[in-house]
Amino acid sequence: MDKHVTHWIGGKPHAGAADRRGDIYNPATGQVTGTVDFAGAAEVDAAVAAARAAFPAWRDTSLSKRTAVLFAFRELMHRHSDELARIISAEHGKVVSDAAGEVARGLEVVEFACGIPHLLKGGYSENVSTRVDAYSILQPLGVVTAVSPFNFPAMVPMWMFPVAIACGNTFVLKPSEKDPSAAVRIAELWAEAGLPDGVFNVVHGDKAAVDALLEHEDVKAVSFVGSTPIAQYIYETAARNGKRVQALGGAKNHMVVLPDADLDLAADAAVSAGFGSAGERCMAISAIVAVEPVADVLVDKIKERVARLRVGPGDDERSEMGPLVTGAHRDKVASYLESGVRDGATLAVDGRIHPVIGGSSDGFWLGPSLLDHVTPEMSCYRDEIFGPVLSVLRVSGYGEALEVVNGSPYGNGTAIFTNDGGAARRFQNEVEVGMVGVNVPIPVPMAYYSFGGWKKSLFGDSHAHGTEGVHFYTRTKAVTARWLDPSHGGVNLGFPTNG
Ligand code: NAD
Repeated sequence: MDKHVTHWIGGKPHAGAADRRGDIYNPATGQVTGTVDFAGAAEVDAAVAAARAAFPAWRDTSLSKRTAVLFAFRELMHRHSDELARIISAEHGKVVSDAAGEVARGLEVVEFACGIPHLLKGGYSENVSTRVDAYSILQPLGVVTAVSPFNFPAMVPMWMFPVAIACGNTFVLKPSEKDPSAAVRIAELWAEAGLPDGVFNVVHGDKAAVDALLEHEDVKAVSFVGSTPIAQYIYETAARNGKRVQALGGAKNHMVVLPDADLDLAADAAVSAGFGSAGERCMAISAIVAVEPVADVLVDKIKERVARLRVGPGDDERSEMGPLVTGAHRDKVASYLESGVRDGATLAVDGRIHPVIGGSSDGFWLGPSLLDHVTPEMSCYRDEIFGPVLSVLRVSGYGEALEVVNGSPYGNGTAIFTNDGGAARRFQNEVEVGMVGVNVPIPVPMAYYSFGGWKKSLFGDSHAHGTEGVHFYTRTKAVTARWLDPSHGGVNLGFPTNG
């Protein structure tokens, strides 16, 4: 054990109090590899104070100078993406190529933010009244914060901070305590890119750190990504404290397979989207809704593919899927295999006996698993499992499939597999889900669109990045101006109307 991860405040490392720390694990070995300081109110205060102090100068930094820092940061992140991917893999467990993928998707948001001046243009109306002009300007909010989940330690924070900082805000990030190192490396790269001290800060920790941020009067907006119960708590608490808030929650993503679909494409997609990153993706497919008569053939095709998947340590190039993030999470995920069978599902593939290549027996392993004949009342269907378990529900037609998807309390992502354009168009229109794929299993929007689900997958009305991100991190001021004119009309107590 050698690593000790500290906060990053005011442009430099900031040690926390020694009495509140958490362990960091390597999920492939099950060993503790370091510790991370947990912030309390004092460290949160220090971070928010640093961000508050940095705000006036950063807000008044010209758009072109801000953009120059963003371009430099983009280059550094790009150059260090392999290093970042290895840092992520060592603490999260995902394979290095997958971690590099999350850095690449995060970088797309930085690239989007490089062009933000275009989106920060207000409107201007000349002569709204005689010789009176009106215009709107978009201004940053001040100190904003994000609380992020373990499953994307780089990409999810990068949905938020490039846009927030490009808009002129200053930022405090509270990353997951399970894989905290990537956030600190990113902070170092921001400093190297020339970002002024205090514009980007990191505090680590648990509920105590989050609550201190939610209650801090100098924090103006909160972005959260994580599980639904915590998202709802964050939304309610932040709103009660007068903050702008977007809280993205959990998911149960369905993939509907119609009888006319290309079943090889659908099986490839189900396996890729179900087991990539060991199913620990908010856009992972977790429920396949097979419209009969395709289920038997589809299940056989999935089983063939799953048998060939190579499970092993994230830094072993042979591995396609790594371990789960903690031992407790692995045990919880595995418990759904038992409860599924108890409730009447069939265990078509048991991941507990899947071979692990080159891994330590103490690693948090669970191979890809498939539960067939699942029905909507079963807890393995109702709960978000967030692991390598795919469930197959068998339905008799499109209408029943749609009912299943729309009956779920979650509405993050979904996909339909079909060769019938009319059916796909109808699904896109009727489904109550925020992100929809047509023959695409993980429809994560590009940076210039916005990411977010519906129903219990998002509390608040702004999605992340894209124009909604810019909207979230700015407030509009409307100005009405009249410049000195010799023909002014004197005192007038009437309500201002146009003339
Ligand atoms: P989590 O909700 O346990 O934790 C998320 C963050 O909240 C962490 O930083 C954690 O420290 C903090 N936190 C945990 N408990 C808290 C509490 N009681 N009070 C205040 N803060 C608390 O989620 P996780 O296990 O890190 O991540 C997995 C979850 O995130 C899954 O449910 C997944 O679907 C979801 N997720 C959603 C999206 C999305 O876009 N909707 C994206 C990624 C992950």
